Amino acid sequence: MFAKRTDFEQGPIRPPSEANSLLLRLTRNCPWNRCLFCPVYKGEKFSRRGLEEIKEDIEAIERAADVIKNISVSNGFGGAVNRQVAAQVQSQHPELFQVAFWLFHGGENVFLQDGDSLLLPVDQLVEILELLTKKFPSIKRITTYARSRTLLRRSVEDFVRLREAGLNRIHVGLESGNDEVLEYMQKGVTRSQHIEAGKKVKTAGLSLSEYVILGLGGKNKWREHALDSAKALNAINPDFIRVRTLAVPASSPLYEKVQNGEFELMADDDIVREEKMFIENLQGIESSFYSDHILNLLEDVNGKLPDDKQKMLEIIEHYLSLPAVERERFCLGRRTGYYRTIDDMQDESLSSVVERNYKQLQDKGISVDQYIKKMMLRFI
Ligand code: SF4
Repeated sequence: MFAKRTDFEQGPIRPPSEANSLLLRLTRNCPWNRCLFCPVYKGEKFSRRGLEEIKEDIEAIERAADVIKNISVSNGFGGAVNRQVAAQVQSQHPELFQVAFWLFHGGENVFLQDGDSLLLPVDQLVEILELLTKKFPSIKRITTYARSRTLLRRSVEDFVRLREAGLNRIHVGLESGNDEVLEYMQKGVTRSQHIEAGKKVKTAGLSLSEYVILGLGGKNKWREHALDSAKALNAINPDFIRVRTLAVPASSPLYEKVQNGEFELMADDDIVREEKMFIENLQGIESSFYSDHILNLLEDVNGKLPDDKQKMLEIIEHYLSLPAVERERFCLGRRTGYYRTIDDMQDESLSSVVERNYKQLQDKGISVDQYIKKMMLRFI
């Protein structure tokens, strides 16, 4: 129906904070692809997309945006993409919906996919960023994932060029600050490399978001994982610290090690204790802390360090002070999607459903912890 293409390529994942962002794919999959806990690109080959191909995608997005704006004008909305326009695009031109959804959310944020896009030559990245911001003046934030090893290959001057061309933030999977955990999980990077890479990004004036996986040390290394992750982040002082809880689907290499008993998963209560130790040891930094991943048990442990540290620890202590049976009910309610926070347990309509499910598991002799581990895999 359209003379030139309006479709463009997208990869499989983005950070939770990029839910309303336009997803533009610069590379396919992950060049490392060995992390034991990560199922995302396993079996897929890494490739860089060509500069012309990416530029054509940006032009396709621009054409899609023009079609959507014309739909808005013909409905009397003057080019604005409101709920009604977005709904019309979804029903009549579903192939344009990604762009309509982005414009509906202001057309402000862009996330560059996939796992390690800063591997592309800096000149190419600058050209892509400049084309994006020229075509879409509404853009306020452009972010990407990057591996610390890749960041180490770039100079501060490279990052400054990228920032000046429009890149705002880099998301890095720290995962752990403990070298033994990093090595066991085959992350391919050490704590000191993570620190050096993070500091470079900060020196260049880019925003930095570091991710930690709660539970990644397993039963054997949880203390070291908590303490050394805090130590690494204290040295980096990233703008954002984001946590997500380990879940192990059969498609990740860690699954086999869990099955044969080599790696012991932690129960929810123990992960909360680990999180407490981790937060207690975050010191001298001004990062914003987020638990904005559906896999986290306590999603309201959020705040700006250092001011909100006590408030965050109080939420954890509140959970740990509940009687064991209440904690188990909360975990079940949270993992089955009925509860979001501990206060939701006061809601009788929600707690009666959770109670019914709890009794059913007891009657069938199923452990809540085992059931929860299965439920968590739905969110990967
Ligand atoms: S570097 Fe990131 S994307 Fe690649 S395997 Fe590790 S966790 Fe997965």
